[in-house]
Amino acid sequence: MTTSPFVTATSPVINPVTTQQIGEVGSASVEETDAAIARAQEAFGPWRDVAPGERARLLRAFAAVVDLHNEELARIEVANAGHTIGNARWEAGNVRDCLNYYSAAPERLFGKQIPVPGGVDLTFHEPLGVVGIIVPWNFPMPIAAWGFAPALAAGNTVVLKPAEVTPLTAIRLGELALEAGLPEGVFTVVPGKGSVVGERFVTHPAVRKVCFTGSTAVGKQIMKGCADQVKRVTLELGGKSANIVFADTDVAAAAASAPYAVFDNAGQDCCARSRILVQRSAYDEFVGRLEESVKALKVVDPALDESEMGPMVSAAQRDSVQRYIDGAHVAFTGSRPDGDGYWLPPTVVESTSTDEAVWREEVFGPVVAVMPFEDEDEAISLANDTEYGLSGSIFTENLGRALRVARGVESGNLSVNSHSAVRYWTPFGGFKQSGLGRELGPDAPNAFTEEKNVFIAH
Ligand code: NAD
Repeated sequence: MTTSPFVTATSPVINPVTTQQIGEVGSASVEETDAAIARAQEAFGPWRDVAPGERARLLRAFAAVVDLHNEELARIEVANAGHTIGNARWEAGNVRDCLNYYSAAPERLFGKQIPVPGGVDLTFHEPLGVVGIIVPWNFPMPIAAWGFAPALAAGNTVVLKPAEVTPLTAIRLGELALEAGLPEGVFTVVPGKGSVVGERFVTHPAVRKVCFTGSTAVGKQIMKGCADQVKRVTLELGGKSANIVFADTDVAAAAASAPYAVFDNAGQDCCARSRILVQRSAYDEFVGRLEESVKALKVVDPALDESEMGPMVSAAQRDSVQRYIDGAHVAFTGSRPDGDGYWLPPTVVESTSTDEAVWREEVFGPVVAVMPFEDEDEAISLANDTEYGLSGSIFTENLGRALRVARGVESGNLSVNSHSAVRYWTPFGGFKQSGLGRELGPDAPNAFTEEKNVFIAH
Protein backbone atom coordinates (compact mmCIF):
# COMPACT_ATOMS: atom_id res chain seq x y z
CA MET A 1 0.00 0.00 0.00
CA THR A 2 1.32 3.42 -0.92
CA THR A 3 1.12 6.15 1.65
CA SER A 4 1.73 9.84 1.39
CA PRO A 5 2.81 12.54 3.81
CA PHE A 6 -0.81 13.73 4.07
CA VAL A 7 -2.81 11.79 6.59
CA THR A 8 -5.82 13.82 7.67
CA ALA A 9 -8.03 12.40 4.89
CA THR A 10 -7.58 9.54 2.50
CA SER A 11 -9.19 8.26 -0.66
CA PRO A 12 -9.17 4.69 -2.03
CA VAL A 13 -7.19 3.69 -5.12
CA ILE A 14 -8.82 1.08 -7.38
CA ASN A 15 -7.35 -1.37 -9.88
CA PRO A 16 -9.54 -1.00 -13.00
CA VAL A 17 -8.91 -4.61 -14.09
CA THR A 18 -9.98 -6.24 -10.82
CA THR A 19 -12.12 -3.31 -9.54
CA GLN A 20 -10.55 -4.05 -6.15
CA GLN A 21 -9.00 -1.44 -3.86
CA ILE A 22 -5.19 -1.54 -4.02
CA GLY A 23 -4.37 1.26 -1.65
CA GLU A 24 -5.36 4.41 0.09
CA VAL A 25 -3.77 7.76 -0.53
CA GLY A 26 -3.78 10.96 1.46
CA SER A 27 -6.00 13.76 0.30
CA ALA A 28 -4.52 17.11 1.29
CA SER A 29 -6.59 19.86 2.87
CA VAL A 30 -6.20 23.55 2.03
CA GLU A 31 -3.96 23.96 5.11
CA GLU A 32 -1.76 21.03 4.08
CA THR A 33 -1.56 22.42 0.56
CA ASP A 34 -0.53 25.81 1.96
CA ALA A 35 2.17 24.10 4.03
CA ALA A 36 3.53 22.31 0.94
CA ILE A 37 3.53 25.58 -1.03
CA ALA A 38 5.31 27.33 1.86
CA ARG A 39 8.04 24.66 1.84
CA ALA A 40 8.39 25.01 -1.93
CA GLN A 41 8.67 28.77 -1.53
CA GLU A 42 11.40 28.37 1.08
CA ALA A 43 13.25 25.93 -1.16
CA PHE A 44 13.06 28.28 -4.16
CA GLY A 45 15.90 30.70 -3.26
CA PRO A 46 18.49 28.00 -2.56
CA TRP A 47 17.39 25.98 -5.65
CA ARG A 48 17.61 29.01 -7.93
CA ASP A 49 21.14 29.61 -6.60
CA VAL A 50 22.38 26.06 -7.21
CA ALA A 51 25.13 26.37 -9.83
CA PRO A 52 23.84 25.46 -13.31
CA GLY A 53 26.15 22.47 -13.65
CA GLU A 54 25.09 21.12 -10.26
CA ARG A 55 21.38 21.54 -11.03
CA ALA A 56 22.01 19.69 -14.28
CA ARG A 57 23.78 16.89 -12.39
CA LEU A 58 20.89 16.55 -9.93
CA LEU A 59 18.37 16.26 -12.77
CA ARG A 60 20.51 13.57 -14.42
CA ALA A 61 20.70 11.77 -11.07
CA PHE A 62 16.89 11.94 -10.82
CA ALA A 63 16.67 10.51 -14.37
CA ALA A 64 19.02 7.67 -13.44
CA VAL A 65 16.98 6.74 -10.35
CA VAL A 66 13.76 6.79 -12.41
CA ASP A 67 15.44 4.53 -14.95
CA LEU A 68 16.48 2.08 -12.22
CA HIS A 69 12.83 1.92 -11.12
CA ASN A 70 11.32 1.71 -14.62
CA GLU A 71 9.72 -1.69 -14.12
CA GLU A 72 8.40 -0.81 -10.66
CA LEU A 73 6.83 2.44 -11.90
CA ALA A 74 5.39 0.68 -14.94
CA ARG A 75 3.82 -2.06 -12.81
CA ILE A 76 2.27 0.57 -10.50
CA GLU A 77 0.70 2.27 -13.54
CA VAL A 78 -0.68 -1.03 -14.86
CA ALA A 79 -2.31 -1.68 -11.49
CA ASN A 80 -3.58 1.86 -10.90
CA ALA A 81 -4.55 3.06 -14.41
CA GLY A 82 -4.91 -0.17 -16.41
CA HIS A 83 -2.23 0.91 -18.90
CA THR A 84 -0.71 -1.86 -20.96
CA ILE A 85 2.67 -2.85 -19.58
CA GLY A 86 4.33 -1.91 -22.89
CA ASN A 87 2.91 1.60 -22.72
CA ALA A 88 3.68 1.96 -19.01
CA ARG A 89 7.35 1.07 -19.54
CA TRP A 90 7.50 3.68 -22.30
CA GLU A 91 5.85 6.23 -19.99
CA ALA A 92 8.38 5.72 -17.17
CA GLY A 93 11.12 5.91 -19.81
CA ASN A 94 9.62 9.18 -21.02
CA VAL A 95 10.02 10.66 -17.52
CA ARG A 96 13.70 9.68 -17.58
CA ASP A 97 14.13 11.11 -21.09
CA CYS A 98 12.47 14.42 -20.19
CA LEU A 99 14.74 14.79 -17.16
CA ASN A 100 17.83 13.99 -19.20
CA TYR A 101 16.81 16.31 -22.04
CA TYR A 102 16.07 19.27 -19.73
CA SER A 103 19.15 18.58 -17.61
CA ALA A 104 20.98 20.27 -20.49
CA ALA A 105 18.97 23.46 -19.96
CA PRO A 106 20.47 25.02 -16.80
CA GLU A 107 23.81 25.58 -18.56
CA ARG A 108 22.07 26.82 -21.71
CA LEU A 109 19.49 29.31 -20.41
CA PHE A 110 21.02 32.00 -22.57
CA GLY A 111 19.96 35.58 -22.51
CA LYS A 112 20.80 38.03 -25.28
CA GLN A 113 23.17 40.95 -25.62
CA ILE A 114 21.33 43.55 -27.69
CA PRO A 115 23.20 46.44 -29.31
CA VAL A 116 22.11 49.80 -27.84
CA PRO A 117 23.74 53.25 -27.75
CA GLY A 118 25.45 54.41 -24.52
CA GLY A 119 25.92 51.06 -22.85
CA VAL A 120 25.28 47.34 -22.86
CA ASP A 121 21.87 45.69 -22.87
CA LEU A 122 21.43 42.18 -21.52
CA THR A 123 18.46 39.87 -21.08
CA PHE A 124 18.15 37.20 -18.38
CA HIS A 125 15.70 34.33 -18.02
CA GLU A 126 14.69 34.48 -14.35
CA PRO A 127 12.81 31.55 -12.77
CA LEU A 128 9.25 32.31 -11.67
CA GLY A 129 9.25 30.78 -8.18
CA VAL A 130 6.82 28.03 -7.19
CA VAL A 131 5.11 26.34 -10.15
CA GLY A 132 1.89 24.36 -9.62
CA ILE A 133 1.35 21.43 -11.96
CA ILE A 134 -2.10 19.81 -12.21
CA VAL A 135 -2.18 16.42 -13.94
CA PRO A 136 -5.07 14.35 -15.37
CA TRP A 137 -5.47 10.60 -14.96
CA ASN A 138 -4.85 9.49 -18.52
CA PHE A 139 -1.05 9.75 -18.68
CA PRO A 140 -0.01 10.34 -15.06
CA MET A 141 3.75 10.00 -15.53
CA PRO A 142 4.58 11.71 -18.85
CA ILE A 143 2.27 14.69 -18.34
CA ALA A 144 3.76 15.32 -14.89
CA ALA A 145 7.30 15.20 -16.31
CA TRP A 146 6.49 17.50 -19.25
CA GLY A 147 5.83 20.13 -16.60
CA PHE A 148 8.25 19.40 -13.79
CA ALA A 149 11.40 18.60 -15.81
CA PRO A 150 11.68 21.97 -17.63
CA ALA A 151 10.28 23.87 -14.61
CA LEU A 152 12.97 22.47 -12.29
CA ALA A 153 15.68 22.93 -14.92
CA ALA A 154 14.80 26.63 -15.20
CA GLY A 155 15.29 27.03 -11.42
CA ASN A 156 11.71 26.85 -10.15
CA THR A 157 10.40 24.66 -7.37
CA VAL A 158 7.35 22.52 -8.11
CA VAL A 159 4.20 21.40 -6.32
CA LEU A 160 2.41 18.71 -8.29
CA LYS A 161 -1.15 17.49 -7.93
CA PRO A 162 -1.90 14.13 -9.52
CA ALA A 163 -5.46 13.16 -10.51
CA GLU A 164 -7.55 11.71 -7.68
CA VAL A 165 -7.83 8.25 -9.27
CA THR A 166 -4.19 7.82 -10.40
CA PRO A 167 -1.88 9.28 -7.73
CA LEU A 168 0.49 6.35 -7.16
CA THR A 169 3.26 6.90 -9.73
CA ALA A 170 3.44 10.63 -8.95
CA ILE A 171 3.88 9.89 -5.24
CA ARG A 172 6.64 7.40 -6.08
CA LEU A 173 8.35 9.96 -8.35
CA GLY A 174 8.33 12.41 -5.44
CA GLU A 175 10.14 9.83 -3.30
CA LEU A 176 12.63 9.04 -6.08
CA ALA A 177 13.47 12.75 -6.46
CA LEU A 178 14.58 12.85 -2.82
CA GLU A 179 16.50 9.59 -3.26
CA ALA A 180 18.34 11.18 -6.20
CA GLY A 181 19.43 14.08 -4.00
CA LEU A 182 16.98 16.86 -4.90
CA PRO A 183 16.68 19.03 -1.80
CA GLU A 184 13.49 18.85 0.30
CA GLY A 185 10.77 21.17 -0.97
CA VAL A 186 12.11 21.40 -4.53
CA PHE A 187 9.63 18.85 -5.91
CA THR A 188 6.60 18.05 -3.76
CA VAL A 189 3.68 15.84 -4.73
CA VAL A 190 0.41 16.95 -3.12
CA PRO A 191 -2.35 14.40 -3.72
CA GLY A 192 -5.91 15.54 -3.26
CA LYS A 193 -9.01 16.91 -4.87
CA GLY A 194 -9.06 19.33 -7.77
CA SER A 195 -11.52 21.53 -5.92
CA VAL A 196 -9.15 21.72 -2.92
CA VAL A 197 -5.49 21.29 -3.91
CA GLY A 198 -5.81 22.31 -7.57
CA GLU A 199 -7.96 25.29 -6.71
CA ARG A 200 -5.42 26.40 -4.07
CA PHE A 201 -2.62 26.35 -6.65
CA VAL A 202 -4.73 28.84 -8.59
CA THR A 203 -5.55 31.13 -5.65
CA HIS A 204 -2.30 30.98 -3.63
CA PRO A 205 -0.22 34.08 -4.41
CA ALA A 206 3.11 32.25 -3.96
CA VAL A 207 2.31 29.92 -6.87
CA ARG A 208 3.49 31.97 -9.83
CA LYS A 209 2.43 29.69 -12.64
CA VAL A 210 -0.14 26.93 -13.10
CA CYS A 211 0.49 24.23 -15.68
CA PHE A 212 -2.82 22.49 -16.21
CA THR A 213 -3.59 19.43 -18.31
CA GLY A 214 -7.16 18.19 -18.29
CA SER A 215 -10.61 18.91 -19.62
CA THR A 216 -11.42 22.10 -21.49
CA ALA A 217 -14.21 22.91 -18.99
CA VAL A 218 -11.86 22.87 -15.97
CA GLY A 219 -9.11 24.60 -18.01
CA LYS A 220 -11.41 27.56 -18.62
CA GLN A 221 -12.14 27.83 -14.88
CA ILE A 222 -8.42 27.76 -14.14
CA MET A 223 -7.70 30.45 -16.71
CA LYS A 224 -10.39 32.66 -15.14
CA GLY A 225 -8.99 32.03 -11.65
CA CYS A 226 -5.43 32.81 -12.76
CA ALA A 227 -6.59 36.13 -14.23
CA ASP A 228 -7.13 37.48 -10.70
CA GLN A 229 -3.40 37.55 -10.04
CA VAL A 230 -2.34 37.70 -13.71
CA LYS A 231 -0.84 34.32 -12.95
CA ARG A 232 1.05 32.58 -15.76
CA VAL A 233 -0.82 29.59 -17.10
CA THR A 234 -0.26 26.82 -19.61
CA LEU A 235 -3.30 24.78 -20.66
CA GLU A 236 -3.25 21.38 -22.37
CA LEU A 237 -6.91 20.51 -22.91
CA GLY A 238 -9.21 18.27 -24.90
CA GLY A 239 -9.10 17.12 -28.50
CA LYS A 240 -11.20 15.67 -31.31
CA SER A 241 -8.51 14.97 -33.82
CA ALA A 242 -8.99 13.85 -37.41
CA ASN A 243 -7.21 11.07 -39.25
CA ILE A 244 -7.58 12.09 -42.92
CA VAL A 245 -7.14 9.26 -45.42
CA PHE A 246 -6.90 10.16 -49.13
CA ALA A 247 -7.64 7.55 -51.79
CA ASP A 248 -4.13 7.91 -53.25
CA THR A 249 -2.53 6.39 -50.14
CA ASP A 250 -1.81 2.76 -49.29
CA VAL A 251 -5.33 2.17 -47.95
CA ALA A 252 -4.46 -1.19 -46.38
CA ALA A 253 -1.58 0.36 -44.41
CA ALA A 254 -3.74 3.31 -43.32
CA ALA A 255 -6.49 0.95 -42.09
CA ALA A 256 -3.95 -1.24 -40.30
CA SER A 257 -2.51 1.68 -38.34
CA ALA A 258 -5.76 3.58 -37.61
CA PRO A 259 -6.81 1.52 -34.54
CA TYR A 260 -3.54 2.31 -32.77
CA ALA A 261 -4.09 6.04 -33.34
CA VAL A 262 -7.36 6.02 -31.43
CA PHE A 263 -7.52 2.91 -29.24
CA ASP A 264 -4.10 3.32 -27.65
CA ASN A 265 -4.62 3.79 -23.90
CA ALA A 266 -8.20 2.61 -24.55
CA GLY A 267 -8.88 5.90 -26.32
CA GLN A 268 -8.22 7.90 -23.16
CA ASP A 269 -5.78 10.07 -25.04
CA CYS A 270 -6.11 13.78 -25.79
CA CYS A 271 -4.42 13.11 -29.16
CA ALA A 272 -6.72 10.22 -30.09
CA ARG A 273 -7.63 10.40 -33.78
CA SER A 274 -11.28 9.80 -32.89
CA ARG A 275 -12.64 11.01 -36.24
CA ILE A 276 -11.54 9.20 -39.39
CA LEU A 277 -12.21 11.04 -42.65
CA VAL A 278 -11.89 8.79 -45.71
CA GLN A 279 -12.05 9.91 -49.34
CA ARG A 280 -15.27 8.47 -50.75
CA SER A 281 -13.66 6.38 -53.53
CA ALA A 282 -11.62 4.49 -50.90
CA TYR A 283 -14.29 4.47 -48.18
CA ASP A 284 -15.66 0.93 -48.55
CA GLU A 285 -12.24 -0.64 -48.89
CA PHE A 286 -10.96 1.30 -45.86
CA VAL A 287 -13.91 0.38 -43.60
CA GLY A 288 -13.63 -3.30 -44.60
CA ARG A 289 -9.95 -3.40 -43.78
CA LEU A 290 -10.49 -1.39 -40.58
CA GLU A 291 -12.90 -4.05 -39.37
CA GLU A 292 -10.17 -6.69 -39.79
CA SER A 293 -7.59 -4.64 -37.88
CA VAL A 294 -10.00 -3.68 -35.07
CA LYS A 295 -11.08 -7.29 -34.59
CA ALA A 296 -7.40 -8.32 -34.43
CA LEU A 297 -6.58 -5.83 -31.66
CA LYS A 298 -5.48 -7.65 -28.49
CA VAL A 299 -7.75 -6.35 -25.73
CA VAL A 300 -6.49 -8.45 -22.83
CA ASP A 301 -5.13 -8.08 -19.30
CA PRO A 302 -2.83 -5.03 -19.54
CA ALA A 303 -0.22 -6.76 -17.35
CA LEU A 304 0.52 -9.18 -20.23
CA ASP A 305 3.27 -8.21 -22.66
CA GLU A 306 0.99 -8.94 -25.64
CA SER A 307 -1.77 -6.58 -24.46
CA GLU A 308 -2.61 -3.75 -26.88
CA MET A 309 -5.55 -2.25 -24.98
CA GLY A 310 -6.63 -2.28 -21.36
CA PRO A 311 -9.81 -1.21 -19.55
CA MET A 312 -11.23 2.25 -18.85
CA VAL A 313 -9.64 3.92 -15.84
CA SER A 314 -12.84 3.91 -13.74
CA ALA A 315 -16.47 2.88 -13.66
CA ALA A 316 -17.46 6.52 -14.13
CA GLN A 317 -15.35 6.82 -17.29
CA ARG A 318 -16.70 3.55 -18.67
CA ASP A 319 -20.28 4.70 -18.07
CA SER A 320 -19.65 8.07 -19.69
CA VAL A 321 -18.22 6.39 -22.83
CA GLN A 322 -21.04 3.83 -22.90
CA ARG A 323 -23.56 6.67 -23.18
CA TYR A 324 -21.94 7.78 -26.47
CA ILE A 325 -22.00 4.21 -27.79
CA ASP A 326 -25.68 3.85 -26.88
CA GLY A 327 -26.56 6.95 -28.90
CA ALA A 328 -24.57 6.04 -32.02
CA HIS A 329 -24.86 3.81 -35.08
CA VAL A 330 -22.25 1.15 -34.28
CA ALA A 331 -20.78 -0.46 -37.42
CA PHE A 332 -18.69 -3.11 -35.62
CA THR A 333 -16.63 -3.69 -32.49
CA GLY A 334 -13.54 -5.58 -31.47
CA SER A 335 -13.34 -7.84 -28.46
CA ARG A 336 -13.19 -7.33 -24.70
CA PRO A 337 -12.43 -9.87 -22.00
CA ASP A 338 -15.10 -11.20 -19.69
CA GLY A 339 -14.80 -10.31 -16.06
CA ASP A 340 -15.28 -7.48 -13.64
CA GLY A 341 -12.92 -4.85 -15.06
CA TYR A 342 -14.06 -1.56 -16.55
CA TRP A 343 -13.80 -2.97 -20.06
CA LEU A 344 -15.28 -1.70 -23.30
CA PRO A 345 -14.58 -3.16 -26.74
CA PRO A 346 -12.94 -0.97 -29.40
CA THR A 347 -15.97 0.41 -31.22
CA VAL A 348 -16.37 1.85 -34.73
CA VAL A 349 -19.27 4.14 -35.56
CA GLU A 350 -20.27 5.31 -39.05
CA SER A 351 -21.38 8.93 -38.71
CA THR A 352 -23.80 10.45 -41.19
CA SER A 353 -24.06 13.91 -39.64
CA THR A 354 -21.50 16.23 -38.09
CA ASP A 355 -24.14 17.06 -35.45
CA GLU A 356 -23.85 13.64 -33.79
CA ALA A 357 -22.46 13.84 -30.25
CA VAL A 358 -20.02 11.02 -31.02
CA TRP A 359 -18.65 13.07 -33.94
CA ARG A 360 -18.44 16.42 -32.13
CA GLU A 361 -17.55 15.64 -28.51
CA GLU A 362 -14.39 14.26 -26.96
CA VAL A 363 -15.57 10.74 -26.03
CA PHE A 364 -12.28 9.84 -24.30
CA GLY A 365 -12.75 6.11 -24.74
CA PRO A 366 -12.31 3.41 -27.42
CA VAL A 367 -14.81 4.83 -29.89
CA VAL A 368 -14.02 6.14 -33.36
CA ALA A 369 -16.41 7.77 -35.84
CA VAL A 370 -15.82 7.36 -39.59
CA MET A 371 -17.19 9.62 -42.35
CA PRO A 372 -16.53 9.97 -46.10
CA PHE A 373 -15.40 13.17 -47.88
CA GLU A 374 -15.13 14.15 -51.55
CA ASP A 375 -12.05 16.33 -51.97
CA GLU A 376 -9.21 18.16 -50.24
CA ASP A 377 -11.26 21.26 -49.43
CA GLU A 378 -14.02 19.24 -47.82
CA ALA A 379 -11.47 17.20 -45.83
CA ILE A 380 -9.91 20.36 -44.38
CA SER A 381 -13.25 21.95 -43.62
CA LEU A 382 -14.59 18.81 -41.87
CA ALA A 383 -11.34 18.43 -39.90
CA ASN A 384 -11.60 22.07 -38.76
CA ASP A 385 -15.28 21.88 -37.88
CA THR A 386 -14.54 21.50 -34.16
CA GLU A 387 -13.74 23.72 -31.22
CA TYR A 388 -10.59 21.65 -30.66
CA GLY A 389 -7.23 21.61 -32.48
CA LEU A 390 -4.71 19.33 -30.84
CA SER A 391 -3.51 16.61 -33.16
CA GLY A 392 -4.23 14.75 -36.40
CA SER A 393 -2.86 12.63 -39.23
CA ILE A 394 -2.86 12.88 -43.01
CA PHE A 395 -2.38 9.86 -45.28
CA THR A 396 -1.50 10.63 -48.91
CA GLU A 397 1.24 9.84 -51.42
CA ASN A 398 1.02 13.37 -52.82
CA LEU A 399 3.63 15.58 -51.14
CA GLY A 400 2.04 18.84 -52.23
CA ARG A 401 -1.33 17.73 -50.86
CA ALA A 402 0.28 16.58 -47.61
CA LEU A 403 1.76 20.04 -47.11
CA ARG A 404 -1.39 21.92 -48.17
CA VAL A 405 -3.57 19.89 -45.81
CA ALA A 406 -1.04 20.06 -42.97
CA ARG A 407 -1.00 23.85 -43.30
CA GLY A 408 -4.79 23.99 -43.63
CA VAL A 409 -5.74 21.94 -40.57
CA GLU A 410 -5.97 24.13 -37.46
CA SER A 411 -4.11 21.88 -35.07
CA GLY A 412 -0.91 22.00 -33.05
CA ASN A 413 0.54 18.57 -33.85
CA LEU A 414 0.12 16.81 -37.18
CA SER A 415 1.77 13.77 -38.68
CA VAL A 416 1.87 12.75 -42.33
CA ASN A 417 1.70 9.04 -43.21
CA SER A 418 2.14 8.16 -39.54
CA HIS A 419 0.54 8.70 -36.16
CA SER A 420 3.65 9.86 -34.41
CA ALA A 421 3.48 10.01 -30.64
CA VAL A 422 4.51 13.07 -28.70
CA ARG A 423 8.28 13.56 -28.73
CA TYR A 424 9.91 15.28 -25.77
CA TRP A 425 12.21 17.27 -28.02
CA THR A 426 9.53 18.80 -30.27
CA PRO A 427 6.88 21.33 -29.17
CA PHE A 428 3.45 20.08 -28.17
CA GLY A 429 0.19 21.94 -27.60
CA GLY A 430 -3.17 22.89 -29.00
CA PHE A 431 -4.87 25.42 -31.24
CA LYS A 432 -8.30 26.83 -30.36
CA GLN A 433 -9.88 25.29 -27.23
CA SER A 434 -7.27 22.52 -27.05
CA GLY A 435 -4.96 24.73 -25.09
CA LEU A 436 -2.76 27.71 -24.54
CA GLY A 437 1.03 27.71 -24.75
CA ARG A 438 3.35 24.87 -25.66
CA GLU A 439 5.11 22.18 -23.67
CA LEU A 440 8.20 20.13 -24.54
CA GLY A 441 10.77 20.93 -27.22
CA PRO A 442 13.82 23.13 -26.84
CA ASP A 443 11.92 26.25 -25.72
CA ALA A 444 9.95 24.72 -22.83
CA PRO A 445 12.24 26.05 -20.05
CA ASN A 446 11.57 29.61 -21.26
CA ALA A 447 7.89 29.11 -20.44
CA PHE A 448 8.98 28.78 -16.79
CA THR A 449 10.94 32.04 -16.73
CA GLU A 450 10.38 35.76 -16.96
CA GLU A 451 12.58 37.60 -19.44
CA LYS A 452 14.35 40.46 -17.71
CA ASN A 453 16.05 43.30 -19.57
CA VAL A 454 19.01 45.11 -17.96
CA PHE A 455 20.72 48.18 -19.43
CA ILE A 456 24.19 49.10 -18.13
CA ALA A 457 25.42 52.60 -19.03
CA HIS A 458 29.02 52.85 -20.21
P1 NAD B 1 -10.16 17.02 -15.40
O1 NAD B 1 -10.20 18.38 -16.01
O2 NAD B 1 -11.39 16.51 -14.78
O3 NAD B 1 -9.04 16.95 -14.27
C1 NAD B 1 -7.69 17.24 -14.53
C2 NAD B 1 -7.01 17.61 -13.24
O4 NAD B 1 -7.56 18.85 -12.76
C3 NAD B 1 -7.20 16.60 -12.10
O5 NAD B 1 -6.00 16.51 -11.35
C4 NAD B 1 -8.30 17.24 -11.28
O6 NAD B 1 -8.25 16.85 -9.93
C5 NAD B 1 -7.97 18.71 -11.42
N1 NAD B 1 -9.10 19.62 -11.18
C6 NAD B 1 -10.43 19.36 -11.32
N2 NAD B 1 -11.15 20.44 -10.99
C7 NAD B 1 -10.28 21.41 -10.65
C8 NAD B 1 -10.42 22.77 -10.22
N3 NAD B 1 -11.60 23.34 -10.09
N4 NAD B 1 -9.29 23.50 -9.97
C9 NAD B 1 -8.08 22.93 -10.12
N5 NAD B 1 -7.88 21.66 -10.51
C10 NAD B 1 -8.96 20.90 -10.78
O7 NAD B 1 -9.62 16.07 -16.56
P2 NAD B 1 -9.43 14.48 -16.51
O8 NAD B 1 -10.78 13.88 -16.67
O9 NAD B 1 -8.56 14.09 -15.36
O10 NAD B 1 -8.55 14.25 -17.84
C11 NAD B 1 -9.11 14.08 -19.09
C12 NAD B 1 -9.01 15.36 -19.91
O11 NAD B 1 -7.65 15.78 -20.02
C13 NAD B 1 -9.47 15.17 -21.33
O12 NAD B 1 -10.28 16.23 -21.73
C14 NAD B 1 -8.16 15.17 -22.12
O13 NAD B 1 -8.29 15.55 -23.47
C15 NAD B 1 -7.33 16.13 -21.36
N6 NAD B 1 -5.93 15.93 -21.67
C16 NAD B 1 -5.25 16.84 -22.44
C17 NAD B 1 -3.92 16.65 -22.76
C18 NAD B 1 -3.17 17.63 -23.61
O14 NAD B 1 -1.96 17.59 -23.57
N7 NAD B 1 -3.82 18.51 -24.34
C19 NAD B 1 -3.26 15.52 -22.30
C20 NAD B 1 -3.97 14.60 -21.54
C21 NAD B 1 -5.30 14.82 -21.21
